[in-house]
Amino acid sequence: MSPSAYHKLLKRQVRKHLNDLKELPDREALDHFLEAVSKSYSSFDQDKELSQRMFDIADSEYQEINRRLLEEKKTREQSIAKLIEAVNTLRQAESGSEDIDENLDLLSIADLLGEEVMLRRQIEEALKEAIVETEKAAKAKTEFLSIMSHEIRSPLNAVIGMTHILNNEEHLPSQEENLSVLEISSRNLMLLINDILDFNKIDSGNLELEQHSFDLAHLLKNIRKANDHAAKERGNILKLFVDDELPTSVRGDSARLGQIITNLVSNAVKFTNEGMVRIDATVMRSNDTEVTVRVSVEDEGIGIPEEKLKRIFEPFTQAGAETNRNYGGTGLGLAITKKLLHLMGSSIKVKSSEGQGSTFYFDLTLVTGESVSPETPNSGPIDEVKDLGNARILAVDDLEFNIITLSKIIGKWNIELTTASNGYEAVELVRNKDFDLVLMDLQMPVMDGREATEKIREFNTELPIVALTASTNESTRREVLALGMSDFAGKPFEPDQLYRKLKSHLVAKKEA
Ligand code: ADP
Repeated sequence: MSPSAYHKLLKRQVRKHLNDLKELPDREALDHFLEAVSKSYSSFDQDKELSQRMFDIADSEYQEINRRLLEEKKTREQSIAKLIEAVNTLRQAESGSEDIDENLDLLSIADLLGEEVMLRRQIEEALKEAIVETEKAAKAKTEFLSIMSHEIRSPLNAVIGMTHILNNEEHLPSQEENLSVLEISSRNLMLLINDILDFNKIDSGNLELEQHSFDLAHLLKNIRKANDHAAKERGNILKLFVDDELPTSVRGDSARLGQIITNLVSNAVKFTNEGMVRIDATVMRSNDTEVTVRVSVEDEGIGIPEEKLKRIFEPFTQAGAETNRNYGGTGLGLAITKKLLHLMGSSIKVKSSEGQGSTFYFDLTLVTGESVSPETPNSGPIDEVKDLGNARILAVDDLEFNIITLSKIIGKWNIELTTASNGYEAVELVRNKDFDLVLMDLQMPVMDGREATEKIREFNTELPIVALTASTNESTRREVLALGMSDFAGKPFEPDQLYRKLKSHLVAKKEA
């Protein structure tokens, strides 16, 4: 290594301390020494430079880490604040407890949150239990009502039947008013029971709407006719306007639709004195398959104060406390109407103000159906003297008063009546004796009407069997026909209707 290549510090020191290197002994050894020293100076410089650079790098990384840590700290503080806010909302919503301390650390907040979660689980468990209990209670209520209805309706049928008999038998003029009170009260009681049952049935989701073709205009005419007498009694004029565009046949549940409209019309008649009540059926829209009809019932009666308007659709609610006293009713009709219309995909609307009359209306979309014949076996003229040609009739019912009522009414129609108190007795009687017709109750002990009919059909397929049932809807009709019965009559029965049914089956049997 030449001296010019030495490290600059070494060069300076050699120049200072060793003026003439050439004069020094053992030049070679000294050169080696100096070279080694120079190299170590150089590598010291490199190390210094390197560590300086490393220090610079470490400093910027440190700055970055510091920045991130600060950011994380901020986020953490914000999260804790949010967590505290959430815990406070939870505590207030569930237990109304006070806010938690804002300076709590994360661990304490986690503990609190754990407690809240436990509390929430307990509440959920309690809620689940409450739902189970409520469902049990609802089921018990439905069962209770269905059992009670049967138990109440049976004797009530007898009361209504007996009243009918008393009315038709010779009685003193002084008894006239008592009989009329008896008749109205027992019929009202029956209506009330039917309303409660209906409401319960709809409320528990057990009501299935039927789909059959019917003539809506015909249904409206019948409703008008049925309410005409009550309207006249209050000095009202009851009018019906049916749109010419209304199709002659639509599909739906005519009995339930009739119940809805009847309820609106009878309310309008009830709450109006010496005024006009008008029923309108207007076609709003129609195409090849569907028609939307607006049915409205407008009256000039007492009207409903605005603050009461919303409440009248709630069950057991009447517009005023004096309403029941003055007009009777249960406050269930509109609640049922609202629920039935909801099932039909419609809703009831009302416009009314106190003293200005009321208009109740709804729009219903119905599928247009095949045409139907308006004639039913229950219409047409009735024989002046009821005579069933000495027909041999077997009446089966477990309740003695039902048998007494029935025999008092049909016993006058020239028949030979035999009675049985359960299905088992009926089957034995039919096996051993000739009958022209059987009137069969459905619910009976020992053997019910359904089973008895099945047994009779095993050996006699011709004998007309007419079921006596409390419900006369389409599903009951289908059920009794599927059992092999020929027809059914509602309880309490209308003597004229029952006479027509018996006569038509007896005539058909004779012709067969
Ligand atoms: P109800 O007629 O058996 O009392 P509703 O549910 O049918 O029960 O009617 C509830 C209440 O709404 C009635 O009690 C009456 O106060 C009011 N209301 C219903 N229809 C009319 C009407 N057309 N005019 C005046 N008030 C009515």
